[in-house]
Formats: sequence, C-alpha cells, structure tokens
Amino acid sequence: MTNQLDVAIVGGGIVGLAQAWMASRQGAQVGLFERSSVAQGATVRNFGMIWPIGQPAGELYDVALKSRQFWLELNSAGALEVEQCGSIHLAHHEDELQVLDEFISKGTHEAELISAEEVCQRSKLANPQGLLGGMYSESELRVNPRVAANQIRLWLESQCHIDMHFNTQITSIEGHELQSSEGDSWHADKIIVCSGSDLQTLYPEEFDQSGLVLCKLQMLKTTAQSGSRESVVPHIASGLTLRHYSSFLDCPSLELVKERVSAESPLLDKYGIHVMASQFPSGEVILGDSHEYGADISPFDKAEIDALMLDELRKVIQLDDWSIREKWHGIYSKHKQLPIYEKQVNDAVSLFVGTGGAGMTMSFGLADRYWEQNS
Ligand SMILES: Cc1cc2nc3c(=O)[nH]c(=O)nc-3n(C[C@H](O)[C@H](O)[C@H](O)COP(=O)(O)OP(=O)(O)OC[C@H]3O[C@@H](n4cnc5c(N)ncnc54)[C@H](O)[C@@H]3O)c2cc1C
Repeated sequence: MTNQLDVAIVGGGIVGLAQAWMASRQGAQVGLFERSSVAQGATVRNFGMIWPIGQPAGELYDVALKSRQFWLELNSAGALEVEQCGSIHLAHHEDELQVLDEFISKGTHEAELISAEEVCQRSKLANPQGLLGGMYSESELRVNPRVAANQIRLWLESQCHIDMHFNTQITSIEGHELQSSEGDSWHADKIIVCSGSDLQTLYPEEFDQSGLVLCKLQMLKTTAQSGSRESVVPHIASGLTLRHYSSFLDCPSLELVKERVSAESPLLDKYGIHVMASQFPSGEVILGDSHEYGADISPFDKAEIDALMLDELRKVIQLDDWSIREKWHGIYSKHKQLPIYEKQVNDAVSLFVGTGGAGMTMSFGLADRYWEQNS
C-alpha cells in the first residue's frame, strides 16, 4: 500500500466503488476510503434492482443501459451473481393500463404490453384479482444488495489492485491531502468524495448550497416463500409506481392515475408510497417503499407506513406467507434536477453524491461518463 495515490475515493458504497473501478480502468493507482468495516449505507439497504426502465428516454436511459452492461461484465468476471430477471409493471386499473400503453407507443424503451394471463405465467407473485394486464421489460437486473458491495470490493482489490482502506474515516481534506481519524495521511492527485447521504460532515457549506435533499425510505422483507422459486422471477412494480419514475412523466394519462390515487388514498402521497416486490433465490421477497423528504430524518420508523405499504401490496401481489422477517430504513440524498450532484470544489477535490433512488442503476454509467469528461 502506498500513501501516494493518483486517485483517492472517499466512500465505499456503490458510487465510490463505481468511481474506483472507472478510475482504475484509466490506468490510475486508486485508493478507496470507507469508515465502516463493510458498506452499511443506502447500498446495502436497497431492493437490488437495476432499473433502466425508470429512466427517461435520452441520455439518462443510455447511461442506465451502459451501467447495466458493467453489471453484466462483473457477472461474467465472476465478481458477483447478477440475475437477468426483467420486470413487470402491473395494471389493476384502466388508467394504469392506459399509461403503459402510451409509454410503449412512444417506442423509446424496450418493453411490451402483455395480457393478464401472460403476466401470471411470467410471475407467480402477480395478484390475478382485478388484473388488467402489464408491461414486461427485459432490461432489469437483480443483485443481492446485502452482499453486492462487498463482493465488488473484493474483486476490485484482487483484480484491479485498488488499495482498499476500510475502517478508515476521512476527517479532513486539505488541498491534495486526506487525513484519517487515526492520524494517517495520504496524498492524491485527484480526490473524489462519494460520501452518499453524508456530505455535511466533510463539506457542510457545500451541502447547504447544493440543492441536495435527504430522503428516508422504509423497507420490509418476508420470510422465504414455500416451494422452489421459478428460474427467472421478474421484479414487480405496481400501478402506483408509475407516479414515481420520471420515464412516465410525459404520458398524458399519468394525471388520471395521480388524481385517482390522491383522491382515494392521500396518505400514499403524504408518505411517497409506491409498491414494488422482488423475490430472491432464497425465496424471501423484499417489499417497499416510502419516501419522506427533509433535513430532519427521524430515527424512528412509522408502523402506519408499513401498514399502508402492506395494504397496497396485498392488492397487487400474492404471497404464500406474508410474515415479515425484517424491517429497516435507508437514507439517500437526491438533487431535484440532476441524476447526480457533481462539483469540482478546487483543483484536487470533486464531489460526486446524490444518486437518489437510482444509485444501483446509474452509478457505473455515471462514473464512466465522469471519466469520459474528465480524463
Ligand atoms: C431503501 C432504498 C431502496 C433503494 N432501491 C434502489 C434500487 O432498487 N435500485 C437503485 O438503482 N437504487 C436504489 N436505491 C438508491 C441507491 O441505494 C443509492 O442511490 C446508492 O446506494 C447510493 O450510493 P452511495 O455510494 O452514494 O451511498 P452509500 O451507500 O450511503 O455509501 C456512502 C459511503 O460513504 C461512507 N462515508 C461517508 N463519509 C465518509 C468519510 N468521511 N470517510 C469514509 N467513509 C465515508 C459511508 O460510510 C458510506 O458507506 C435505494 C435506496 C434506498 C435507501
């Protein structure tokens, strides 16, 4: 290990790992600094959905598809297992089906409208009651978020010779020098701060001026469902999800969905609830999620939110066993307009944070774009 680096990355979540990988592909000697012994932030708390279908047509969809290719490359290299599972958006209301139809008619994303029967053939999870049809897309991937970051870290260390400094909190950055809480220091030509939802500690003023907001999400995981899982199990998104991803924004009927939901269930808007489900090879199903924005993130989770999510989930999916095995929340930072907040603070330091709800989907592509623009 060296104390002299070409590139230093602060943060060992998916964004920091993506930056480290892309920097090393440029031939740089890279060091990555993470304060925990293993990543514990948003990167291990998510659904593990690589979700290009949620990105609007144009540059962001292209970045998501490029990112997807990087995940598949990691899979081929044996770094971790990536399932090519695809996704289904369910329509249990006419207005939802209309939005899906309008979305597919644009021809911007690889997706097809399928009948209710075909939805049920493709997924045992879909609730056939009141199901009108769905949209199938092949592009979505599944990774296990609990282990993915650690597996990538090990692969980057062994295959790309990146210096991994875990249990190392960076407490200050002055010019090209990084200092740790243990009193160690490193010099790097370039320092990229990928500290996720915690930009305040190192750069409080930058955070205040950035336009970044914090968001808290509640999540649930069921016990393993009985019987063996089918070989390919698409992620499931509900009609409520159409309100969430910007890819659907220009579908004229989206307003009808939004108006109906806010009239029927205003609490879903209040807590930013839309529901999704993803079944893992273990048989367990990750369920979520809610979105509470603001600077004061409460450490206490709301039982009301879990109950609302489960009510909505029971309308759109079916499970043999609804017993909840785990509950948790995650926090990310997000910019209203940008897919990531990139800022060069001085000639040494760049900030690269705020991937919002799409960090697993976008990080590799965004880091690749960064190095295309900055090398
Ligand atoms: C509940 C939930 C569900 C989600 N679902 C999905 C999904 O299915 N698909 C998708 O694409 N995205 C999803 N996201 C979004 C995605 O998880 C995030 O965008 C992404 O994980 C952010 O990665 P990150 O590396 O910026 O942050 P983090 O994972 O939070 O990592 C930042 C790291 O920086 C470290 N750090 C901070 N300061 C320092 C310091 N001074 N010194 C050393 N280390 C430091 C922290 O310890 C932390 O490990 C979800 C997010 C949540 C919360």
